[in-house]
Amino acid sequence: MLVKKVFLLCAAVCAAVFMCSCGAETELPENTVYTTFYAMYDLTSEIAGDKMNVVQLVPSGSGPHDFEPTAADIAAVSESKALVYCGSVDTYIGGIRETVEKSGVRTLDTANGVDIAKDAKDPHIWLDPSIALEQYTAISDMLSEIDPDNSAYYSERLATAAENINELQREIDTLKSTAHKNDIIVSHAAYGYLCNCIGIEQHAIEGGSGDGSDPTAKQMAELIGFAGENDIRIIFAQRNESDRAARAMAEEIGGDVLLLDPLEADTGSGGYFEVMQQNIQALGTALE
Ligand SMILES: [Zn+2]
Repeated sequence: MLVKKVFLLCAAVCAAVFMCSCGAETELPENTVYTTFYAMYDLTSEIAGDKMNVVQLVPSGSGPHDFEPTAADIAAVSESKALVYCGSVDTYIGGIRETVEKSGVRTLDTANGVDIAKDAKDPHIWLDPSIALEQYTAISDMLSEIDPDNSAYYSERLATAAENINELQREIDTLKSTAHKNDIIVSHAAYGYLCNCIGIEQHAIEGGSGDGSDPTAKQMAELIGFAGENDIRIIFAQRNESDRAARAMAEEIGGDVLLLDPLEADTGSGGYFEVMQQNIQALGTALE
């Protein structure tokens, strides 16, 4: 009986050790590149095609603003070839970058060289297509350095991405020439860079900290007044986020709610090109 118990105990301990050792060794494919949130994942995937295993660190349905990596996340990134991120949007990056760099992982800040200090609350730079093209280029350069055998492939993918960016620029130019309004009201202040391209301004419903919190009654009243003065009939909610405040405001002004998507999370609406086309179309309706 005792022998049987000891045997069972041994079996249990062995199983536990086996399971632990399996869990610790996250066997990543050799050509794995980590990216932080959805826009970084999508831009990197566009260039990497089928030559790299591109993985998203932030769960694909959530955005970067509330994310904190776990020890297991950091261990997994440490085993990859590279980590692609986007400046101050990835607020937690300081806690992970040094550790993974010590393990020989290359890190690429796609916001490098882009002036985001002018509005630290709105670092959503990829929503300006010309900046997205710079980001595509930086990603292509890095992949070519990691994997020189496929550099012609990455250059070709970059050329296709650049064509799509040109198409978006054309659509933005058309929007610019047909817009009759200078302002939009949005739930989350994510569209400053996109608005810059069009020559309009965003006014956010969320609280002052830019974190999606509810506005105060005073802020709501001021924005409703602003909407009335500027004939604003559309309030933009964010896909995948609560539209409660946007609905409340739309009701007050007798207007409608439309959606914008800052590509912070994968909302199942497509990649950069498709989502940006949807954004431009929705903006066209609001600026009529
Ligand atoms: Zn955001």
